Amino acid sequence: MLRDKFPILGEKVYNRQLVYLDNAATTQKPVQVLDAIGYAYTHFNANIHRGVHYLSRIATEEHEKSRLEVANFINAKSAKEIIFTKGTTDSINMLAFAFGEGYINEGDEIIVSQMEHHSNIVPWQMLCERKKAHLKVIPLTDDYTLDIKAFEQLITEKTKLVSVAHVGNVLGVENPVEQIITIAHRYAIPVLVDAAQSIARLKTDVQSLDCDFLAFSGHKVYGPTGIGVLYGKEKWLEALPPVEGGGEMIEHVSFGKTTFNTLPYKYEAGTPDFIGSFALAEALRFVRQTDIETISSHEQNLTRLMLEQLQDIKGVKVYANKATVPCGVVSFNVYSNGKLIHPFDVGVLLDHQGVAVRTGHHCAQPLMEVLGVPGTVRASVALYNDEGDIDIFVSALKKAVEMLV
Ligand code: PLP
Repeated sequence: MLRDKFPILGEKVYNRQLVYLDNAATTQKPVQVLDAIGYAYTHFNANIHRGVHYLSRIATEEHEKSRLEVANFINAKSAKEIIFTKGTTDSINMLAFAFGEGYINEGDEIIVSQMEHHSNIVPWQMLCERKKAHLKVIPLTDDYTLDIKAFEQLITEKTKLVSVAHVGNVLGVENPVEQIITIAHRYAIPVLVDAAQSIARLKTDVQSLDCDFLAFSGHKVYGPTGIGVLYGKEKWLEALPPVEGGGEMIEHVSFGKTTFNTLPYKYEAGTPDFIGSFALAEALRFVRQTDIETISSHEQNLTRLMLEQLQDIKGVKVYANKATVPCGVVSFNVYSNGKLIHPFDVGVLLDHQGVAVRTGHHCAQPLMEVLGVPGTVRASVALYNDEGDIDIFVSALKKAVEMLV
């Protein structure tokens, strides 16, 4: 059984079977990923690229094979377009710095959306402050989707970059990134896709999307923490300056002048996480073997079920687009006589029944402002969840609501 491949799912919390519905925050790891970490440390732990000895050569080969696995997974044209980072946040910060240095001047504009995670807002805000540029924001419609007409109206000759999530981490809305990219490219504006939530849920094909950049984290796609990816079209990565200086990213160093390494090494200063890349590649193989379309439709079924059942619970307000099923993520709040019960209280009562959900602003405070709430309760599924999990969650929520309302 698929669940048996995830040892942590056998854990008991407060003497109850764990029901893990916090997958948008991080996913659990299958045995093959856990084993890959142990295998790498046991069989080829040695610093890569610089060594002539056997272990170092194997470690280097594995790191580069992992890069190729990532490139294949997202259908990049070349492994040179894959930069290993610490995660989505690191990838976006890296791009904000490189792009900012190379292409942003006073008065320029960057566009994000109202539903972004802080990590796709704050790095751009910091860049705007450094360069006296402006951050513009695509608004949401009343139905929790991005207002594409408004987006087009935000574009001016000063717009230099658009950065949007493929799937929102609070609402689970799949954004029309292809349409956004087509519109932006009409004005020759590059687009970054934040794929943190979509990478484990939707097929990612950077060539057919035609995005200029894409970022994701290993830990949200059944891989380890501390490793992630920044994809960039080769022409962009060639043109942008390096971000961090140090070992590996150089071609030659002298006190007079330093020249930089070729792609992708120019962006990978210092010893990379070659154990993490090996385990990430294993996670991506796991997703490929399981098949992303199968994962997608399984998660859709569970999400639909969750939505249907939540709608029947008195006092529960769900924040979801009515026309589509959200991508694996459902946000809601509980109200008593029109008064919001703090999501934290709901989360604690669920936790005590063995159900792990996330509560709070989900690193999306601007979106919370739009929704007019301090936070939400968020339940998010992964490929190992099943209808039994949803049943336990729903009956635990009913009990919590009885106590709170
Ligand atoms: N972007 C989105 C849409 C996310 O959901 C998250 C994490 O929840 C991030 C970015 C940041 O990811 P990380 O913390 O792995 O860097």
